[in-house]
Amino acid sequence: MELKDQNMDKFIFAGKSLNEIEKFMIDNNQSKFRAKQVFNWIYLKSVMTFEEMTDLPLTTRNFLQENAQIVSIRMKDKQISKDGTIKYLFEMEDSCFVESVLMRFDNRANLTACISTQVGCPMGCSFCATAKLGYKRNLSASEIIQQIILIQADTGLKVTNIVYMGQGEPLLNLDNVLESIKIFRENFQIGARRITVSTCGIIPAINRLADMNFQSTLAVSLHASDNETRKSIMPVSNKYPFDSLMETLKKYTEKTNRRVTIEYVLIKDINDSIEHAKKLAFAISRLKSNVNLIIYNPNEKSPYKKPIKENILKFKYILESSGKKVTIRLERGADIDAACGQLSSKTKKI
Ligand code: SF4
Repeated sequence: MELKDQNMDKFIFAGKSLNEIEKFMIDNNQSKFRAKQVFNWIYLKSVMTFEEMTDLPLTTRNFLQENAQIVSIRMKDKQISKDGTIKYLFEMEDSCFVESVLMRFDNRANLTACISTQVGCPMGCSFCATAKLGYKRNLSASEIIQQIILIQADTGLKVTNIVYMGQGEPLLNLDNVLESIKIFRENFQIGARRITVSTCGIIPAINRLADMNFQSTLAVSLHASDNETRKSIMPVSNKYPFDSLMETLKKYTEKTNRRVTIEYVLIKDINDSIEHAKKLAFAISRLKSNVNLIIYNPNEKSPYKKPIKENILKFKYILESSGKKVTIRLERGADIDAACGQLSSKTKKI
């Protein structure tokens, strides 16, 4: 292994496996034994400087200081919501920005991080603030992982659950998403069942996950119960129509023996009627699934509105009556634009 990453000035540790770190150390005449210590400091103890790696000899620390970096991205801004939700703005080496959100739930020990997989997003969902940014590029596996490293370093807490629901469509960056999941499982010791990957419905990628017997949770942003409504708010339905998506999901659940989570954002007068609820109940009646209802969070660039409470409760009741487990997702961080569909990198400070 070369001393330095091809396009970087220094070797970047974030995202590297223990084997890769050992090879780096051996190739540079450092003790292989030290690799495990560095590995633990970065992934389990979340330190951000080599000076803090106090069980390494000074010569090793000096070598690392000169030739390596722990991360290549940096925290540019941070906002804390009244409910404790934290929204981070991270800057990549090429000056692109992405956001991540950390959510704590008072009644649980879980610490859930929502991370981004792309700079912007090409999918154009009409209700989503990220879509307004357009699409710039995929994040590398290392950049995906670094969001968690920096969140853990900032809070001093261990992230227990990861949801790939930040900026971008994860299944359009599937290789890097899968690589990052492998590292979260092996290096961060976060179990597959504590990881959720969200998609707006990229059928070939869902088939690929089915073929590999994907064991993390797949969440599908359905947001409509028929193709016409879906096409009006999610252009992806022009390419991958509603019925084909439902058929694909059915095969996915049969192959993986895993339930999918149906995400459904309720938008006033668009998809929140009793008729929509009945159609949704029918469409997913043969699909092993739970339903997560999300109350639309209005943002300044969107014409859509929040549904009224009565419609939300009726919608939930109809789905539950059909035998589905339904949760209404708690609104987190709406006051700092960290709630679902609100990530727009607009807080960036340059
Ligand atoms: S909802 Fe998701 S897939 Fe759709 S534009 Fe926003 S980030 Fe992209």
